[in-house]
Amino acid sequence: MNTNIRVFKVFGIPIEINVSWFIIFALISWSLVKGYFPANYPDLSIASYWAMGLIAAFLLFASVLLHELGHSYVAKTHGVPIKRITLFLFGGVSQLSKESANPRIECMIAIAGPGVSYVLMIVFFVAYYIVSRTSTSGAIAPVLKYLAYVNGILGTFNLIPGFPLDGGRLLRAFIWKVTGDLQRSTYIASKVGGAIGFSFIALGFISVFTGRFIFGLWLVLIGFFLRQAAEASYLQVVVSNTLKGVKVGDIMKADVITVPESITIQDLIDNYFFKYHYDCFPVTLAGRLRGLITLDDMRQVPRSKWSETTVSEVMQSDVDTLKVTPHDDAAEILKRVVRDRCGKMPVVEGDRVVGIITRKDILEALRIFSDLGH
Ligand SMILES: [Zn+2]
Repeated sequence: MNTNIRVFKVFGIPIEINVSWFIIFALISWSLVKGYFPANYPDLSIASYWAMGLIAAFLLFASVLLHELGHSYVAKTHGVPIKRITLFLFGGVSQLSKESANPRIECMIAIAGPGVSYVLMIVFFVAYYIVSRTSTSGAIAPVLKYLAYVNGILGTFNLIPGFPLDGGRLLRAFIWKVTGDLQRSTYIASKVGGAIGFSFIALGFISVFTGRFIFGLWLVLIGFFLRQAAEASYLQVVVSNTLKGVKVGDIMKADVITVPESITIQDLIDNYFFKYHYDCFPVTLAGRLRGLITLDDMRQVPRSKWSETTVSEVMQSDVDTLKVTPHDDAAEILKRVVRDRCGKMPVVEGDRVVGIITRKDILEALRIFSDLGH
C-alpha cells in the first residue's frame, strides 16, 4: 500500500492519492449504490442509485481534500511549508515539512481541517433544506443530506484527542503551551492516541462478537491504524529533534573506494570485495558517479559468468535516486532510507564521490546523539 499517484496541484501543493483510496472509493460507492440509498429512498431507479452513489463518493473525496487543504492553507500562511497532501484509506494527511514554531500556530493548523468539515456540513445541510423543498427530483436531496452527515462525522472523528489526529494535535499544542517541551507533549499526546487506538480495537472485537461484524472490523482496522500512526509520529519527532543540525557530511564514511564500471565481476571480487571488506561500492566512470554495486547485486550473476560480466551490467544505475549530498539533513535521509528501503547511498559533491552513508551510520549517529542528550 505504499504506492502514491500524484494527480494535481492546489496552491502549489502536490496532491497524491494512495492506491488504498481506490479500494475505499469503490467500497463506499458500492455500499451507497447497493445499500444506503435504496434502503432509505426505495422508490428510485437503478440508474439514479448509481448516479447518486458515484456523485456522493466523489464529493466525499472532495470534502476530505478540502479538509486537508484547510490545514495546508493555514500552515502555509504561518510559514510552515507543505510537502504534499496524501489521500489514503482513512482520509488524508497533510505532510508539513517542519514542526510549527509555537503552540498557537500548531493549534490553528490543527483546528482548520475540522473547521472546514463543519462549514461543509452546514453548507450541505442548507443546500439539502432548500433542495428538499423546491426540487421535483427525489435524487438530489438524499445526496446532500448524506454529505452533510459525513462531513459532520469527518470533523468529529478528527477531533478525537489522540495524536496524530487533529484533536491529538490540539492536545499536544495545549500540553506544549503548559510545559514548553515539544518532545514531551508529543510523547503524551501519542500515548493518548495509542490508548484510543487500543479502545477502538477492543470495541471492534466486542462488536464483531455481538454480531455487528463489518462495523467491528472497521473499528479494529482504524484502531490499528491509530496505534501505528501514533507510534510513527512520535518516533519522527524524536528523530528530527535528536538529529537536528546533523548533516550527512558529519556522519558519512569519507574513506570511500570507488569501482570503475568497466571491470568484471571476477575483478571486483578479487580486487575490491576481498581486499576492502565493504559490502558495497559506488561505481564511477572518469570520476563521475554511475551507480552502486552491492554484494546482493553481484549474487545475481552465476559463478560461471563472473569473468565475462562487467560491473555496469548488474549495478544499480538510477543515480539520481541513490545519491545524497554532504549538506543534506541526516534526519531527512533517514526518512528516505525507511521509505525507499535503501540501505546505502553514495555521497556526491558536485561531480565527485566524496563518501558513502548507510542506514547503519544514521542509526548509529541517532544512538550516540540521544545518549549524549544532543
Ligand atoms: Zn485533519
